[in-house]
Amino acid sequence: MNSSFTPDSYALRAHAPANNWIGGEWAPSHTQRSLPVINPRHAKIMSHVSLSDSEDVDAAVQAGQEAFAHWKDVPMRERAAVFYRLKELLTRERESLAWLVSHENGKTYEESLGSVDKAIECVEFGCSLPNLAAGHELTVSRGITCTETFEPLGVVAGITPFNFPLMVPLWMLPQAIIGGNTFVLKPSEQVPLSVMHLAELLAEAGLPAGVFNIVQGDSEAATALCDHPDIKALAFVGSTKVAKLLYGRAASHGKPVLCLGGAKNHLIVVPDADVELSADNIVASFTGCAGQRCMAASVLVAVGDVDPIIDAVIARARSLEVGRDMGTIIHQASLERIGGIIERAESLGATVRLDGRQGMPAEGYWLGPTILDHLEPGAPALTEEIFGPVLSIVRVDTLDQALSLENGSNYGNGFAIYTNSGNTAQRALGSAEAGMCGVNVGVPVPREPFGFGGWNQSKFGHGDITGWDGFRFWTRPRKVTTKWALQTDQTWMS
Ligand code: NAD
Repeated sequence: MNSSFTPDSYALRAHAPANNWIGGEWAPSHTQRSLPVINPRHAKIMSHVSLSDSEDVDAAVQAGQEAFAHWKDVPMRERAAVFYRLKELLTRERESLAWLVSHENGKTYEESLGSVDKAIECVEFGCSLPNLAAGHELTVSRGITCTETFEPLGVVAGITPFNFPLMVPLWMLPQAIIGGNTFVLKPSEQVPLSVMHLAELLAEAGLPAGVFNIVQGDSEAATALCDHPDIKALAFVGSTKVAKLLYGRAASHGKPVLCLGGAKNHLIVVPDADVELSADNIVASFTGCAGQRCMAASVLVAVGDVDPIIDAVIARARSLEVGRDMGTIIHQASLERIGGIIERAESLGATVRLDGRQGMPAEGYWLGPTILDHLEPGAPALTEEIFGPVLSIVRVDTLDQALSLENGSNYGNGFAIYTNSGNTAQRALGSAEAGMCGVNVGVPVPREPFGFGGWNQSKFGHGDITGWDGFRFWTRPRKVTTKWALQTDQTWMS
């Protein structure tokens, strides 16, 4: 075992090097190059991550191909049985996994536990696939039947971001592997550790060597996965810039590709909204995971006089204690980038109603809840993804103006409306340009079995990444038309 890391507090702990997991064995990249892995709460090195290149990717693909020869013929129920056992093991390791997520990502322990629980839910959905994935059969003409089955593709790949080190990989793995594929994962080089623990749990659950492989690394390994001729499909989750780049690159090789990108989620609040419910929810949405969620509230569009709600949002956000109620930003560069956006907003005339830059701990990458008010439409804080605990408030007079601002965003991940009126909610839902919408719910993540995926520049490719769409993405339908006897009453088909 390589990932024997069992922290039980926020104290800084060292971890074994984050190596590649290929064919059921740990090995460093043959490049011998690595990067430090920083614990963002302490801003100190906790491990090193191997930087893989195309040769390492090729070794992982070969291991995947060897395993595929056998795995594709394992009945789906047996493939799913591995994930039943994985669910038990994830539950057994829930707390140590949560600490691991917290150490590499900077989330609070409670937030990390939530992300482990959601990962377990994704595994549960995978376990249900044998009950869902029976294909269709129909007698399409006299004596002739047509059947449809869902066949695996071969070796497939996933590339994942820093913000959910365990959960986002588990958006992909159950459907892909239970669907009969073998998998190569490239996690974010900033959070390479949690998936190492996952690899060992999958092995303990009985997954044969080579069915799941990890290549650690940065853009070089990601690009090599896009280009490898034997990677038969690729999913990506990360920023829009990279999503677009890798979508174009992998699709140019003819692969099925699904790339989920960044977000700029708008929340509209109208005067009839419940003050306490809205304030509580809006704060949880923009401060949870320190705003580093693709479903986090980013822009609050205030319609008319909603000052009692905004005052309650500010009071509630002010009461949060960083370190206890909120985790860190992932790294120094991100902290500086967010600081730059806040400064630019101030210079353009925004009011800083709550300044999270003040009084932060000296060690680590901290930013407290920050609220910018009276932003002018078009201000960068209203259009650029900030990915930090910053709420940008823009004031408008009517719901139509609010919806037109929301519709003007390039992104389309999440959207929420706060109201007590069904009519207002219906109008907003009928026109919001977002794939995942909430009514009085600030983080409207569709729980399983519903699929996760946005619209517009928040997603490139067809379908959602989780739920049934995920299974369809990682498989290809085969139609078989069968006739066993000569028909006397012939139709055009017989
Ligand atoms: P990122 O795009 O920087 O990195 C994501 C992955 O791509 C990492 O594995 C990284 O190593 C790789 N990568 C980075 N640059 C690359 C390049 N030039 N070529 C090839 N590969 C490259 O994203 P991040 O900072 O890790 O994560 C935050 C972003 O992810 C935010 O924009 C957030 O909105 C988004 N996100 C979206 C969703 C969603 O479901 N839409 C979910 C989680 C995160």
